[in-house]
Amino acid sequence: IQASAPLTQSAPIALSYELFPPRNAAAEAGLWDTIRELETTNPDYVSVTYGASGSNRDTAVDLLNRLLTETSLRPLAHLTCVGNTADELAEIISELLDHGVRGILALRGDLPQEGPGEPRPGQLHYAQDLIELVRRVEQRRSALLCAGKVAIGVAAYPARHPESPSIEHDVEVLLAKQRSGADFAITQVFFHADQYRDLVVRARRAGVSIPIIPGVMPLTSLRRVQRLGDLTGVEPCPDLIDALGRADDGAESRRVGVSATVDLARAALDAGAPGIHLYTFNEHAAALEVLDKLELLRPGRPAVGSRTAGGTLQPA
Ligand code: FAD
Repeated sequence: IQASAPLTQSAPIALSYELFPPRNAAAEAGLWDTIRELETTNPDYVSVTYGASGSNRDTAVDLLNRLLTETSLRPLAHLTCVGNTADELAEIISELLDHGVRGILALRGDLPQEGPGEPRPGQLHYAQDLIELVRRVEQRRSALLCAGKVAIGVAAYPARHPESPSIEHDVEVLLAKQRSGADFAITQVFFHADQYRDLVVRARRAGVSIPIIPGVMPLTSLRRVQRLGDLTGVEPCPDLIDALGRADDGAESRRVGVSATVDLARAALDAGAPGIHLYTFNEHAAALEVLDKLELLRPGRPAVGSRTAGGTLQPA
């Protein structure tokens, strides 16, 4: 998993998607349609989220295994400190490495809504602790793995992390994660391209040299944008909320949302972003439309107008 150089150097743009483990059989069937569609775009990797409560651990591991054995995709496994002790995490990391996973997104995890509660004995506190644990497990298994073979990603925040005292503190934390062994960062959602650009400038000045990949969500649903704003503490752009609120049907909402997402992603690429990470919500249609408009669909992928599979991409 490597991020490439900025657009200005005409290097390929890294492309990745986020998926979450399905909650039931119907959701699983829909997810696999999405996976097959996304696979045709030849992404650099697909990431699989992990519920900080640990509740979806088995479905996450199953999905990662199926991605490895049934597709050509490279999975990036999210892991969280919240909900697991260090020993449990070491076991999960070993299991993932045994199955062939070579990319881990090391996260602190969302805190439970009722509050963090008493930390369990042996629980890790910060993403930085988890990065160090992954590197230790990797080291112990160096007979199997070359050191540094596991790519470790971390979260970065264009808008201040809700628990952080300042954006300067966020950059210090990112630098600490790099020093502990992070290879790249993916950002939380953001609604203003300036926030991404400023984060990169501040991070580079502080000594952060790892690629910082903008995480972009197709902004096609008012409800989802608002909910994400609540969950992440990132204030959605009022103009977008107005425009989505005025859209009178699904098609109009989609047109407004795709256009706003394309503008945001294009501005991040113009600012030198080395790639785009799309939060898909397990749906491919809007994600692929965004990439099509950004002209980021890879060779080998049929032209959008010629595909109707899954009923998602409309004939031109
Ligand atoms: P950290 O980097 O540990 O930071 C957490 C807080 O502690 C911050 O306020 C930070 O400022 C502070 N902090 C960190 N280190 C120190 C230190 N050494 N000293 C003092 N303060 C410190 N959540 C899930 O539960 N599951 C997922 O699958 C998931 N996927 C995500 C994917 C992406 C790309 C992103 C951006 C977020 C994801 N999240 C996920 C959400 C994430 O877990 C939350 O944003 C969480 O609140 C913080 O995680 P972190 O890894 O940034 O934590």
